[in-house]
Amino acid sequence: MMREPKSSPYKHKRPNFPKEETTEMSLLSKVIRNDDMQNITKEFARLKDRCYLENTGATLYPKSLIKIVNEDLMQNIYMNPHTDKYTKDCIEQIRCLILRHFNTDPTTYSVVFTSGTTQSLKLVAESFQFTSEQNESLQGSFVYLRDNHTSVLGLREIAADKNADVVHVSHQEFLNSLCGDAVTSTKLKAKHKNKGNALFVYPAQSNFNGFKYPLEAIDKIKNGYLNLYMKKHIGKGSNNWYVLLDAASYVATNKLDLGKRQPDFVCFSFYKIFGYPTGLGAILIKNSSADVLNQKRYFGGGTVDVVLTSEDFHVKRETLHERFEDGTVPFLSIIALKHCFDVLHTMIPKVINNDVMDTISYHTFFLAQDLYYQLNKLEHGNGVKAAVVYADTDFMDIDMQGAIVTFNLMRDDKSFVGYAEFQNLADLFSINVRTGCFCNSGSCQRHLKATNKEMKEMYKAGHKCGDDFDLINGRPTGAIRASFGYYNTYDDVDKLMQMICRCFVASKLNKPNRTMYNQYENRKLSNISAAIPLTPTSSSFDIFNNQKYLRIFNSNQGQKPPQITPTSNEIVLTEITIFPIKSCGAFKIRTAWKIGPKGFDFDREWMIVKDNGVCLTQKQNPRMCMICPKIDLKEKMLILSFKGKSSIAVPLETKIDSPQKPAALCHTKVCSDIVNGIDCGDEVANWISEALEVSYLRLIRQSESDKRMQKKKKEEEKKLLSLSNQAQFLLINRTTVKWLRDQIKDPTFTDDLDQLTNRFRGNLMIDTEHPLVEREWESLNIGKHEFKVEGLCPRCHMVCIDQQTGEKTVEPLRTISEQFGGKIRFGIYMTYVGTVDGSKDGFLKNYASIKAFTAVEDISR
Ligand SMILES: *Cc1c(COP(=O)(O)O)cnc(C)c1O
Repeated sequence: MMREPKSSPYKHKRPNFPKEETTEMSLLSKVIRNDDMQNITKEFARLKDRCYLENTGATLYPKSLIKIVNEDLMQNIYMNPHTDKYTKDCIEQIRCLILRHFNTDPTTYSVVFTSGTTQSLKLVAESFQFTSEQNESLQGSFVYLRDNHTSVLGLREIAADKNADVVHVSHQEFLNSLCGDAVTSTKLKAKHKNKGNALFVYPAQSNFNGFKYPLEAIDKIKNGYLNLYMKKHIGKGSNNWYVLLDAASYVATNKLDLGKRQPDFVCFSFYKIFGYPTGLGAILIKNSSADVLNQKRYFGGGTVDVVLTSEDFHVKRETLHERFEDGTVPFLSIIALKHCFDVLHTMIPKVINNDVMDTISYHTFFLAQDLYYQLNKLEHGNGVKAAVVYADTDFMDIDMQGAIVTFNLMRDDKSFVGYAEFQNLADLFSINVRTGCFCNSGSCQRHLKATNKEMKEMYKAGHKCGDDFDLINGRPTGAIRASFGYYNTYDDVDKLMQMICRCFVASKLNKPNRTMYNQYENRKLSNISAAIPLTPTSSSFDIFNNQKYLRIFNSNQGQKPPQITPTSNEIVLTEITIFPIKSCGAFKIRTAWKIGPKGFDFDREWMIVKDNGVCLTQKQNPRMCMICPKIDLKEKMLILSFKGKSSIAVPLETKIDSPQKPAALCHTKVCSDIVNGIDCGDEVANWISEALEVSYLRLIRQSESDKRMQKKKKEEEKKLLSLSNQAQFLLINRTTVKWLRDQIKDPTFTDDLDQLTNRFRGNLMIDTEHPLVEREWESLNIGKHEFKVEGLCPRCHMVCIDQQTGEKTVEPLRTISEQFGGKIRFGIYMTYVGTVDGSKDGFLKNYASIKAFTAVEDISR
């Protein structure tokens, strides 16, 4: 009964789960037959070899859904539902479909459309009457589970504004309360009675790790099971409990049966179930609980029966949903929902309980279970566990566990792999997972065992939600989340595991050599002068006249002045390279090249953009590196060549009177920044589209030499530079590249030193006696030109693209990350300061001599 992966480097045993019987053994699913599963995956052929494990972020939409929706819209006329009875009826029909999906009907629940879960939650809290109906001075309470989504935590601000008591419950206290005793309102002693209303919010399923909070809690809460806890914390319980269920994560892969359990309010978003449409969610309001939602202040078009403009008089609509849906509902998106249900029902066989959602639930659960077991068993060659899984169950009970596995990886020395590093390698393998804290800081904190104090310290140390500070003092600040949808199969589990084994799990044969890094680190701390031979080589440069060093000396008054020893070996600039088109091939300069405050002349001056105006990069299209640009200064041409094509020339000077087509484009790094570029015309655009095999590409020149435009552009350029926050020069030390080459143990990685060096796409190349020394430099002079070092260059998986063939490899990213403790940085960024002697020398020359400076103060830090 067990399914073995085709080729797998790890010991692998599928869990035997005898609960469900399948008639036919499947290679893809434990639940859905192979041929059915293949039909499902056909709907997602656009994924190609991408492995999408981010179902909790958004389900993917099936292809035929979009087709059917488009056909519907093209053939029918839908008008504003306030105008058109037919459209209105369609929408009413769909409300019924939604209620049927949750096994209930309009007599029990009402559907209120919103823009999504977050707005749904907000609307409930805003409308909820916390005070007692009889006596408005009796305040109620807002009670929330700490492990809620951030969108729920924000509700406490609304509740506090309405003077409700705000109470939070931990994961364990909540579960304990459910096992304890109910203190019903009749049993509640008079002094603990509170006639105000209490609103309790919890998720049906955690978006952090898929733990399913018990749905029995709904009735228990309403029966006063939290009153003991409340008494302990605020000295009073409540008579009137209401439950708001955040079902956003749960309904994506589970059947929520409102015939069985009836929360007062249920919130969710449709894209998490169907993948499409986005921007549409709902609140399901239990009709018998609707009266408590009477505090909605705002009214808009469609929500009132009558309104006087000169007097404070309006009457809200009678029908429940009409009172809540301000303005025109997104009727075309709602119309699409009908097809969402249809397509899901045609596509997914009803294998379990004759129900589509139950089938999805089991199918995805088994995939997650499989991943959980494999991660739990994963070991390094030395027996150290390679993964920590942050789960609240053992993945044995589908009633308690959903299809989400959250984990971190550890190296064989028990140090953590940072999630940002993992993310980089996952990108390389086209694997989509979520990393970080997934908008659930309560669960994150609980599983990473960080105290409030530590969370604040992490914040102070620079960690904010959504950044790349994945490890602080060796401890993870977030995790890796893999979540499964109905379109996933065991192949996806295999892909993830293979990637993990290849990049992070060391076997005995392939033990990583960390000694160099450690030695370097220790050296750095103890014996500075011996290790870092960097300082001016020439006495002609007077360090004491340099403002920067004066500053350091002054601040060091009374202390020992920093030791600066001259280096014995002269360093020279060995190579100048520019990259005229962003992400395309290199143009190597033989003698000298013009330099200015913006960088080298013509460096990254052009970019290739897609028809949507977004800049194309090697990450999306590795073939870009095979476009080889050359700047011919004599002919004043940019000449592009590509293997198998005749080359093409683009003039460097745009003619003054030729019509210029300005192109608005979106800079990848700073998308808020719209740069006006100049389109280089159809001929070269077609040439590039053909070479890269992507239609409708355009070549855009970012800045241009036309004098009339120069003035206007100045401000924009300044802004661009400061916004993109990247320096103009990247320096690479070949000695460090050679050192890196020696650390790479992967036998399939065959780059020679030149090939490996090319991957780093530096502008300036040097050779030093010792590797890694450039990482400590603060500034340097190359010939007459002074540069300031901005820091190490952060790397992404672009360094894994062979710059000759466009092929992707795992190295050198994996080794860089391993050697530098998860920090994927290589090469140094520099900005141009000016000439040392104030001369107007505008050229940087190959083989110019280099003087590097470092501040001892910095090194010993
Ligand atoms: C996704 C999610 C939300 C937020 O949903 P939006 O669609 O972003 O408003 C809230 N709670 C949980 C449990 C979720 O999974």
